[in-house]
Amino acid sequence: MFGPGGIESVCGHAEIEPALAEFARVTGEQRYLDQAELFVERRGHGVLRDIAWGRAYYQDDVPVRAATVLRGHAVRAGYLAAGAVDVAVERSDRGLLAALVTQWENTAARRTYLTGGVGSHHQDEAFGEDWVLPPDRAYSETCASIASIMFSWRLLLAQGGARYGDLIERNLFNVVATSASDAGTAFFYANTLHQRRPGAPAADGEVSPRASASLRAPWFEVSCCPPNVARTLASLAAYVATVDDEGLQLHQYAPAAVRTTLADGTAVALDVETGYPRDGVVRVHVREDAAAPWTLTLRVPAWAEGARIVVDGAEEPAPPGTVAVRRAFRAGAVVELHLPVTPRFTAGDPRIDAVRGCLAVERGPEVLCLESVDLLVASGDRLDDVGPCCSTRPWPRGTWTGRSSCGCAGRCRPSRPGPTAGRARTRGRRGSPSTCRSCPITGGANAARRRCGCGCRSRADGQRTERIR
Ligand SMILES: [Zn+2]
Repeated sequence: MFGPGGIESVCGHAEIEPALAEFARVTGEQRYLDQAELFVERRGHGVLRDIAWGRAYYQDDVPVRAATVLRGHAVRAGYLAAGAVDVAVERSDRGLLAALVTQWENTAARRTYLTGGVGSHHQDEAFGEDWVLPPDRAYSETCASIASIMFSWRLLLAQGGARYGDLIERNLFNVVATSASDAGTAFFYANTLHQRRPGAPAADGEVSPRASASLRAPWFEVSCCPPNVARTLASLAAYVATVDDEGLQLHQYAPAAVRTTLADGTAVALDVETGYPRDGVVRVHVREDAAAPWTLTLRVPAWAEGARIVVDGAEEPAPPGTVAVRRAFRAGAVVELHLPVTPRFTAGDPRIDAVRGCLAVERGPEVLCLESVDLLVASGDRLDDVGPCCSTRPWPRGTWTGRSSCGCAGRCRPSRPGPTAGRARTRGRRGSPSTCRSCPITGGANAARRRCGCGCRSRADGQRTERIR
């Protein structure tokens, strides 16, 4: 009906594309792949009617191979991109694949929350423009993160690369896993990063509005997310490891038993022992002798500066990216990856207006959360007034402007005297373009920027901090 000579249109909600490609793989029937390709190529030429939010809402504004970033409805965009990667791989279409890699890069760099979540608009459940990432009531639909995982996973299979595994991990820990309640009976549809008012519990036995629900709810008026989480968790094992002609790659860390055969017939049996992310030690036990060398590759997350790998007692640094061990493994061999999961502060890109001057606390792959119930003493129940403890000095020395109540209950002292109220701002000397050399945001990279926005007190470059009265 929608094939050549049929209805020249596409479904407004991309989703059938990856299904058709997968169905072609399973059945071996090319007509399903042909149809997936037709849908991918047809979209973006104005085949759907224009609407108030524009054709970008259903990615009918720009052809897939001409687009440079994901836009419009975040779930639809992610599913379409996933299906397009399938088509590109099956057709060996390098041009299409390159376009999708560019879209992934720009989306991950400019339109993705720290949690991996995507979609900052409530109105159309859509991506915002570059750097539009307000944490307040961020939409970040659960399904959008699952779509992001589907897109990243296909690019990982197509060309490898730790960055895809990094984004999958970020989404799994900070959106998919946290969307469900501990009991698994209530869910977040929108995964906001900052809620200024306490949420209201959903009424039992009623469907909840998806966008305005403020706490996890048993069911929603549109119920895509809960079964999508169930589907993703049920298929979680598939995201752990891959094989290629060289050997085996571990992408996600969890207790696991991996049994497979490499292309040359080498049997590989590994048991992964780990408490990750509670601790950062991933211990891989080799259970089979190998007659010929093969390569075990481990992902080292981008945040894991200082990681180490230990192979049969010999230790080496493992910088972020991947670390590989090649040998004719013997049963009993042990490879350990030590990832530093010490809590760390993270500042957003200074181009994100909504979080300038804010810090997030991360630990390993997890973005930590402050809840008002934890902060009654520290902040008088005002989350907006919470800052890091003076003694932790997350900013370079001397940059802390001082709060009268840092939440440490008097156990710390400010590193230097500072104002006890008000906010601070940074100014450059007139006519002397400068940046703070130790700025945690720009890292001193933007030498032409007069205001680096970090609120720092560095004097070396002519910046100073002033009270705003
Ligand atoms: Zn959903």
